[in-house]
Amino acid sequence: MKAFDYIRPQSLEEAEGHLTQEKRVNILGGGVTLFLELQNNDLTPDIILDVKALPGFHDIRYHHNHGLKLGAAVNLQHLATGLEIRRHYPLLNQTAQELASPQIRNRATIGGTLAWASPVSELAAPMLCYDATCHTWSPRRTRTIPVNELYLGDFKTALEPDEIITHIHLPSFPARTYGIYQRQTVRHDGRRMIAGAATLAIRKHHTLTNWRIAVLGVDDRPKRIPEAEALLEGAPDEESIHLALQAVQENIHPQDVVYARSDYRRAVLDALLQRSIHSIISNLQES
Ligand SMILES: Cc1cc2nc3c(=O)[nH]c(=O)nc-3n(C[C@H](O)[C@H](O)[C@H](O)COP(=O)(O)OP(=O)(O)OC[C@H]3O[C@@H](n4cnc5c(N)ncnc54)[C@H](O)[C@@H]3O)c2cc1C
Repeated sequence: MKAFDYIRPQSLEEAEGHLTQEKRVNILGGGVTLFLELQNNDLTPDIILDVKALPGFHDIRYHHNHGLKLGAAVNLQHLATGLEIRRHYPLLNQTAQELASPQIRNRATIGGTLAWASPVSELAAPMLCYDATCHTWSPRRTRTIPVNELYLGDFKTALEPDEIITHIHLPSFPARTYGIYQRQTVRHDGRRMIAGAATLAIRKHHTLTNWRIAVLGVDDRPKRIPEAEALLEGAPDEESIHLALQAVQENIHPQDVVYARSDYRRAVLDALLQRSIHSIISNLQES
């Protein structure tokens, strides 16, 4: 492994001094994938810039009108165990509990997990359903990127090389928001994803509105399927569920992998979504 400088800035101004054109800089979150890439010599940086001591990067703040602010260095175990997350964003909480192992969750940060941009990144699914936005800083500007626009394809994001995710924002959702995350993997720790999906809808009287379907493992990026979501609005019957599932199939492009052929991944996703949609509709039976 090539030698590099390890820098842990205490402020963005201090970080700015290291983000120069002359040096190759890699941003460090929890290091779960970054360290593997360094070990394999896939990356040969001059500087590793650890963002975990930056102010506000560990914040978790919820306000019933404004929603949830999560600092980029908050680790995934907080999402799996935090009471506020469980109460107000149960889909995020459920997904985090299923993601990897407690050891990985204790290290992995939200910023690093989103920036990693794997087509099978599970955290992306609830973030897409909750309309989350990434807030970023670079020496040139700050900006807000909807998670829906963050992913450009296989491990590619809209982030520039010196752009740091500072925090993630989730808008607030009504109490009767129902979500479910389902996935099928080869290994129990979440690796070797066959297919996964997060589904969400908001109950309004006897209908379900604002349906969201986010899929992973079946395209070059985690993504929403708005064509299917629109078909479920209201109180969907079997015919509209069938049409929505058909719309999902028309808008995904799964790859053959050694452990699952693309047609199998399609069939698995279909089964997961059928189960999720019916489970959400069953909430209409509650008074
Ligand atoms: C054994 C194992 C099991 C796993 N199981 C699962 C699983 O079940 N489900 C799943 O979805 N994933 C799984 N993963 C992937 C894991 O979730 C990610 O590797 C991890 O979440 C990355 O987060 P990190 O904070 O460690 O990022 P790092 O490894 O530190 O960084 C990853 C990338 O993000 C960049 N980055 C980091 N922080 C920021 C920031 N604030 N702003 C901009 N860029 C940043 C880095 O430069 C790097 O390119 C697994 C990984 C391993 C090794």
